[in-house]
Amino acid sequence: MKFNDSLKEIQIYEAGKPIELVVRKFGIAPQNVVKLASNENPKGCSPKVAKAICDNAHKAFLYPDDSFYELKNALSQRFSVNDENIIIGAGSDQVLEFISRALLTPNDSVLMSQVTFAMYEIYAKQMGATIIRTSSYQHKVDEFISAYKKHKPKIIYLCTPNNPTGDGTTKEDVFKIIDAVDSDTLVVIDGAYMEYAIAKDRAYEITPNDILDRDNVIYLGTFSKAYGLGGMRVGYGIANRELIHELYKMRPPFNITTLSLIGAIEACKDEQFVADSIALHTQEIKRYEKFADENGFDYIDSYTNFITYIFPDSMNSTTVSDALFKEGVIIRNLASYKMNAIRITIGTSEQNSRFFEMFRKVSS
Ligand SMILES: *Cc1c(COP(=O)(O)O)cnc(C)c1O
Repeated sequence: MKFNDSLKEIQIYEAGKPIELVVRKFGIAPQNVVKLASNENPKGCSPKVAKAICDNAHKAFLYPDDSFYELKNALSQRFSVNDENIIIGAGSDQVLEFISRALLTPNDSVLMSQVTFAMYEIYAKQMGATIIRTSSYQHKVDEFISAYKKHKPKIIYLCTPNNPTGDGTTKEDVFKIIDAVDSDTLVVIDGAYMEYAIAKDRAYEITPNDILDRDNVIYLGTFSKAYGLGGMRVGYGIANRELIHELYKMRPPFNITTLSLIGAIEACKDEQFVADSIALHTQEIKRYEKFADENGFDYIDSYTNFITYIFPDSMNSTTVSDALFKEGVIIRNLASYKMNAIRITIGTSEQNSRFFEMFRKVSS
């Protein structure tokens, strides 16, 4: 069978390894497996969300309210926007897909940082678009602006804070880039980890409200990280209403599930859970910084719920990741991003202690 030529260029996305795999492969009991690989919330989800999902399980036969009225209402209050400024996706991933399909042709290019979220490339390549990357893994304003001027990309992806490196871009720098591009280029601000950045330094805060007066900027957020709902697949895009209207043409009906919708609505009501999650994170990430200092390797100052350790030449990220994996500790090897580095999601206090213990064991 002949598949589209564009598929030849696409590498299948490799998700964080699941706990079940370690259990099957090494016979380690599930309770002894520590998964710090997919930036999930180590506190789980709000107990109120879990209860609402259980209480409403019998509604599984019903399609959800396809207008997502109540969820949009909660989001519009949180961000001081109107519901017509919002599109809901099965994860913000799905909104990225809508954007790609709505805008890209094989004649277009897209611009992103050297090391960033893998799905930008995959969705763009599905449409046959060309990928352009800046030379630094950080979002350097000058590099973005000169690459923009040279290539006139159709989309610029700004992942702030950035995954898988954890570094952030200040609001000032993001707006320098936005102000430099004309309205033929869409700027996507992916704020999947924004809640963590805000807790660390307000200079990194970008609120959807800041960009509503622009006709070529969209802000993306998700319930998968700070809100602890990765398994429910709910995300959103916020932009001016003309842009949202066009993206709506790409949307399949009922694109999140009835129980996901109930979970997300409930999650919006429990801000305390998010605050507690961030408080735990803020305390625990300090242990990872100290651990790196003590063991003589670098880390990237993180604005997210994970930390990236950069190894010296004497250490190899693939060797370390494989050895940890055999001990039931799942982290993310960044070798596929051409970095001798690992990304570790900050876990609970116990999970983190286990990571340190196993790291010492495998690297001694
Ligand atoms: C996790 C993540 C997302 C979105 O995840 P969904 O679960 O699809 O909402 C988007 N961008 C980045 C950078 C992420 O890390």
